Amino acid sequence: MIAFNKPPYTGNEDKYVMAAMRSSKMSGDGQYTHLCQEWFEKQTGCKKALLTPSCTQALEMAAILLDIQPGDEVIMPSYTFVSTANAFALRGAKIVFVDIRPDTMNIDENLIEAAITPKTKAIVPVHYAGVACEMDTIMAIADRHQLFVIEDAAQGMLATYKGRPLGSIGHMGAYSFHETKNYTSGGEGGLLLISDERFVVRAEIIREKGTNRSQFFRGMIDKYTWVDIGSSYLASELQAAYLYGQLERAEEININRLKTWSAYKSAFSTLTDKIETPHIPSDCQHNSHMFYLKLSGLESRTRFLEAMSKESVMAVFHYVPLHSSSAGKKLGVFSGTDNFTTKESERLVRLPLWFGMEMADIDKIVSSVTRSVYL
Ligand SMILES: *Cc1c(COP(=O)(O)O)cnc(C)c1O
Repeated sequence: MIAFNKPPYTGNEDKYVMAAMRSSKMSGDGQYTHLCQEWFEKQTGCKKALLTPSCTQALEMAAILLDIQPGDEVIMPSYTFVSTANAFALRGAKIVFVDIRPDTMNIDENLIEAAITPKTKAIVPVHYAGVACEMDTIMAIADRHQLFVIEDAAQGMLATYKGRPLGSIGHMGAYSFHETKNYTSGGEGGLLLISDERFVVRAEIIREKGTNRSQFFRGMIDKYTWVDIGSSYLASELQAAYLYGQLERAEEININRLKTWSAYKSAFSTLTDKIETPHIPSDCQHNSHMFYLKLSGLESRTRFLEAMSKESVMAVFHYVPLHSSSAGKKLGVFSGTDNFTTKESERLVRLPLWFGMEMADIDKIVSSVTRSVYL
């Protein structure tokens, strides 16, 4: 069976993890955490980058920083991972789902304004497959209505929109280093990117259980104390050390994934009567996070997945739209009509893609797909 994913590993991760284990500091905010955070601040130009134990927790921090209160509304696509919604639902927000664009599976920027009410606090665009949402339009809407924009860039590391790194365009952004993403910090991990300077000081407090401990360690105050709500949002040094091994080889990982993605893209260019392949708008440089195919509908997808399984290739479908889930019905509402969210999600399958995939695997998958789409 060809796996769907293999966690990225480049060679130096174990060396750094061992060094972190043998140092006197394995808890968060040590040497490797700082090396990683500096790398991201330089790479994205953000005011502050903070490593977290997961992207889920980075999104939770963002919701706390925005002071989301019960009754506030937060706009996002329904075609996303549960954490996008949970982070805000945990603070009592009502989730307002907006339909997606069929070409990118991203929130339809032209439908956002109709979903805004006096209770709206934030817009949360999700950059699906590392392909950017239409951020100029979204930022202009946010500006007009004085809303915050939190980018769920879980899949977006090293991808850009008009040359700007995803996660650095809104007020805040979040990356994931889960082992299914392009870069991992040892299975689980995340990052909060802060572009709006107003959130920096409080972010460090919230991350340190609501204390001003970070300022204390920098010598800015002479004792630390409880000053705000907060939680335990520091990544361990072992996570940071693993990630640092990958950041040193970040470009190599990116180029290697792009090679596989492009091989799929050109191999399937002859099957356009049966399947659609991802569309990349000209303003977007993606990061080859995902290669998906779209079949004609739910039935042909089910048949395709069965055929792929018989071919010993692990292909998978993706999100079940949140608004149709039991929690989504309770905690959210769909704004307008679901023209594409359900229909397009039922057509989509993801193909195996990982760093270091062999050409033989790619060839095998391509021929399996070619047989399976004609069944
Ligand atoms: C992976 C993912 C998350 C969650 O990331 P974790 O690091 O596993 O918490 C959130 N949103 C999106 C869009 C994701 O793909």
